[in-house]
Amino acid sequence: MNYQEIIDKQRAFFETNATKNISFRIQQLKHLKSVLQQNEELLYNAIYADFKKSKYETYTTELAIMYHEIDLALVKIKKWSKKKSVSTGLANLPGKTYIIPEPFGNVLVMGAWNYPYQLSIVPAIAAITAGCTVIMKPSEIPANSSSIMAKIINENFSPEFFKVIEGGVPETTELLKVKFDKIFFTGSIPVGKIIYQAAAKHLTPVTLELGGKSPAIITKDVNIDMTAKRLVWAKFLNTGQTCIAPDYVMVDKAIHDDLLVAIQRHIESADYKVENQNYTQIVNQKNFERLQNMIEPEKVYFGGHCDVENRTISPTIMKGVSFSDKVMQEEIFGPILPVLSFDHLDQAITDIKKLSKPLSCYVFTKSKTIKNKILQEISFGGGAVNDAVMHFMEQNLPFGGVGNSGIGSYHGKAGFETFSHYKSILEKSFLIELNLKYSPYTSTKLKWLKRLVG
Ligand code: NAD
Repeated sequence: MNYQEIIDKQRAFFETNATKNISFRIQQLKHLKSVLQQNEELLYNAIYADFKKSKYETYTTELAIMYHEIDLALVKIKKWSKKKSVSTGLANLPGKTYIIPEPFGNVLVMGAWNYPYQLSIVPAIAAITAGCTVIMKPSEIPANSSSIMAKIINENFSPEFFKVIEGGVPETTELLKVKFDKIFFTGSIPVGKIIYQAAAKHLTPVTLELGGKSPAIITKDVNIDMTAKRLVWAKFLNTGQTCIAPDYVMVDKAIHDDLLVAIQRHIESADYKVENQNYTQIVNQKNFERLQNMIEPEKVYFGGHCDVENRTISPTIMKGVSFSDKVMQEEIFGPILPVLSFDHLDQAITDIKKLSKPLSCYVFTKSKTIKNKILQEISFGGGAVNDAVMHFMEQNLPFGGVGNSGIGSYHGKAGFETFSHYKSILEKSFLIELNLKYSPYTSTKLKWLKRLVG
């Protein structure tokens, strides 16, 4: 495929100014929602064929998120796109100053495999809302999900405006040689660095949504049952293949054993069973083996069952884990939850901070002092107090990482901003002109200038 030709066509289309028209954007967003709705069954079937993701989880964690994002954009697009007046300094009076959001132009959106639809389509929604043209490159790993997206988008949108290009490393490497006006990438840290380098060649701005080891810190004063229930849901949703899943637990020694019992109880009462047809598979053999290698049998408190044929791993709780263990060396991204304990919170914070800045951090506590201490002392992308993962659903919260977990953010208004350049304008009239700034520079002028500037 000639990628340069595709982007040239998108560039020519962008230059017609069609996407700068708000009505055009609204029409495209509405069209996207109806295309997705009309093809829901195909979307459910494709993702099930890829990793047995259930209809329920596909609706709640994929489709509902995309619909929500489109609905919010439709309500807010006029407000977000408006020019914003700001106050004008003395030196430019009489005059006006304002900021105009303008679309970056032709953008590339690359998605990860774990939520194959929304991780590609939600940034595309933001790009369309901001007035950009979009080339979307979903992850090739869930092949059926990638191809259904290509089919429904490419059959329903003009390629000059919105096109899906499928492919793996060779295709993406070629695609990245083309100059885009913005690249939005979701994926791993090593590939994020490749994207950043490719973008640098053209001085293309990037948003990088990456990963990391997100801790859940639990103090001894919590409601243990509710904490365990929320943790189990957040961890085993999509069988732990969630970038913001609690990667590991740091719990006060005083409640360590009780928490383990409660976690086990909640796993057992949920439907997370290898034999359940709705228990999501590990996406491929490579990840299955990677996860299997992390499980040290002598540290398994609960679970640990790996079914090679079905590519499933039962919810696994590991205890007695330390920071030097295999499971603590990389992001887990699967249904394994190591539980570490601490005597002193300060030590726990120091240990957590030795790892790279995580995408999320969760603190479960009733203490306002501890909550504030953790929120102040640990740098992380975003998170929740007394819950996990649910902050992702909040459209008014920008979603993104910091340090190794990413650059930039999206969701709602933050998504619009991510695909917009904010053009700053000073507007003067021809009414009057002060001579103070013009040469010759006399001492009288300097005296007046000093009086004015202060
Ligand atoms: P990945 O980096 O392997 O792949 C992401 C994208 O990059 C895919 O489209 C893939 O085709 C492409 N790609 C892979 N190798 C490439 C290469 N050498 N050159 C160019 N392109 C390449 O990531 P993944 O395995 O799909 O996803 C898992 C990672 O993504 C985890 O680290 C997870 O934490 C992170 N993630 C982050 C978020 C977030 O919102 N921050 C969401 C989901 C996943």
